[in-house]
Amino acid sequence: MADGQPPLQAGATTPGRSGVLFVMTGASGVGKDTIRNAAMPFVEDLEFSVSATTRGQREGEEHGVQYYFLERQKFVEMIDNDLFLEYADFVGEYYGTPLEPVKEALAEGRDMLLELELVGARQVKRRMPEAVMIFIVPPSLTELERRLRGRGTESEEKIQKRLARAREEIRALREFDYLIVNDEVNEAASLFLSIIRAERSRARLLSQKQVESFLREE
Ligand code: 5GP
Repeated sequence: MADGQPPLQAGATTPGRSGVLFVMTGASGVGKDTIRNAAMPFVEDLEFSVSATTRGQREGEEHGVQYYFLERQKFVEMIDNDLFLEYADFVGEYYGTPLEPVKEALAEGRDMLLELELVGARQVKRRMPEAVMIFIVPPSLTELERRLRGRGTESEEKIQKRLARAREEIRALREFDYLIVNDEVNEAASLFLSIIRAERSRARLLSQKQVESFLREE
């Protein structure tokens, strides 16, 4: 570009604008990770926020990748020191988003994706009203139950509690900006990508300097 300005594109983060915060919410077992993993190869510059949790590590999970697995005492210390953007108790365990990486990314114009249950999602919306809120529903509760059981990671009691939370969360879905039905994963991922592209194209995200760049004559 003539004046050294980077090209304006919907796909990637544009220097000079603040980052966009995406929040994905939906019942445990609905397939949030699967949609994210299917979509990520097609999205540029979208960082995933790794949460902290007190729940036990599942087979195949790694500290610092899916979660930071913390002792309860450490988690409570972080709450007391205001180190979370949001946190919630989900079926007897704590889950929380470390504040610093999110603040830093947004200030530097990098976009971030959070995966949260409903209570945490509401806290984020209150603290950052411009966050883009996306809700994922299963095609039916029967299908959700099948997926939760298929995972084989939770006791019957925990499965029942997760299903009860799923019903509560679905009742709140109109609080969100977008809805994705996760029936077929590629379709769901494709809709997720469209939402990201559309939100990144919002004119209000541009800095005045970027607006000026459209006035140049070449
Ligand atoms: P799971 O134990 O199945 O990994 O997660 C249980 C629920 O907690 C899921 O709905 C998941 O999206 C949510 N979750 C994961 N990380 C966070 C977080 O940092 N904060 C909140 N509020 N919920 C989270």
